[in-house]
Amino acid sequence: MARRMIVKIGEDILRKKCKEVTEFDASLGELLDDMKETMLDADGVGLAGPQVGILRRVAVVSPNGKNFYEFVNPVIVSSSGTQICREGCLSVPGINGEVERPKKIEVMAYDRNGRRFLLKAEGFLANICCHEFDHLDGILFIDKMMGKR
Ligand code: ZN
Repeated sequence: MARRMIVKIGEDILRKKCKEVTEFDASLGELLDDMKETMLDADGVGLAGPQVGILRRVAVVSPNGKNFYEFVNPVIVSSSGTQICREGCLSVPGINGEVERPKKIEVMAYDRNGRRFLLKAEGFLANICCHEFDHLDGILFIDKMMGKR
């Protein structure tokens, strides 16, 4: 595993739409391992492909540093409710603010071996997933922010 450089706001890559992963090979596993290490090292709770310079639909999430989730080609297939979330982003240092997100979501995604799974998430986990999946479409939380503090 190796730490990767985190791309910061101002770089074009954060605004691009990522392509789907089509090859579930060893390099995908390596990328996900590197992203996990990079996220933990930076004390983050999630990290998406573009944040390490990779325009692929991949994200890692860990609400508490203990439980890890890996998503390849994630799609939110249903959502319900709303919650106001206080967010920051490793690619947008020094800013945080409130964003409205769904309270509950269902995510369809693939693991690193190409196996499809369905995850039901709510609260903080749903919040992080929504934030990370937005990155895959070039959307940053500041685009949706209700107020800066
Ligand atoms: Zn982010």
